[in-house]
Amino acid sequence: MHYHCEVWLSEAVGKALTELSARPQLDDLLANVLNRYSEETNNGDAFYDWYQVGGRNTGTHDGYHPWEDPVNMEVCDLCGGTGTRTDAVAAQNDMSNVRGCNGCHGDGVKVKYSSAPHKEDVIPLKDARKDLSCYTLILIQNEYDEPTIYHMENWTGKDFVKSDKFTGDNIKDFLAGEGISDGYLVTLDYHN
Ligand SMILES: [Zn+2]
Repeated sequence: MHYHCEVWLSEAVGKALTELSARPQLDDLLANVLNRYSEETNNGDAFYDWYQVGGRNTGTHDGYHPWEDPVNMEVCDLCGGTGTRTDAVAAQNDMSNVRGCNGCHGDGVKVKYSSAPHKEDVIPLKDARKDLSCYTLILIQNEYDEPTIYHMENWTGKDFVKSDKFTGDNIKDFLAGEGISDGYLVTLDYHN
């Protein structure tokens, strides 16, 4: 399943990583901290097998919809952009219920598999909307210490039970309760 995670970066760590041009460095930092964490927990216990900045949760911070942005559209490869599929598959299958093409539903274009990096997936914590929530919250103070990780629910080995500390609601208030009011939030999509 895919989960929505927010990563909090301390002011010192996050300051140089807010621009789109710094995305490779941000990816390096996350790989460094999270992969080392998963090695320490013997990989099998890692809570993810894949993650990406933004991903399916791109735009969570500012209400941007990546699938409506032309930059994330591409010509449909199944119909060559015509909106009507004419190959052998189309000859053998009824395409009328998919408006002529099962790749683009007749539009000739479709949403790309992965969307373009979005600047607002990294924002100062102070700019986060009040009701911003997430399933998993990761706190990274620096590159060297283990991150602090909160999940809304925790696996007991038998079933999931709700965390008594982190409800997933209102990240800003939760962090304020931890004495944190500066730094940055990074939207993450992870899979397990
Ligand atoms: Zn098509």
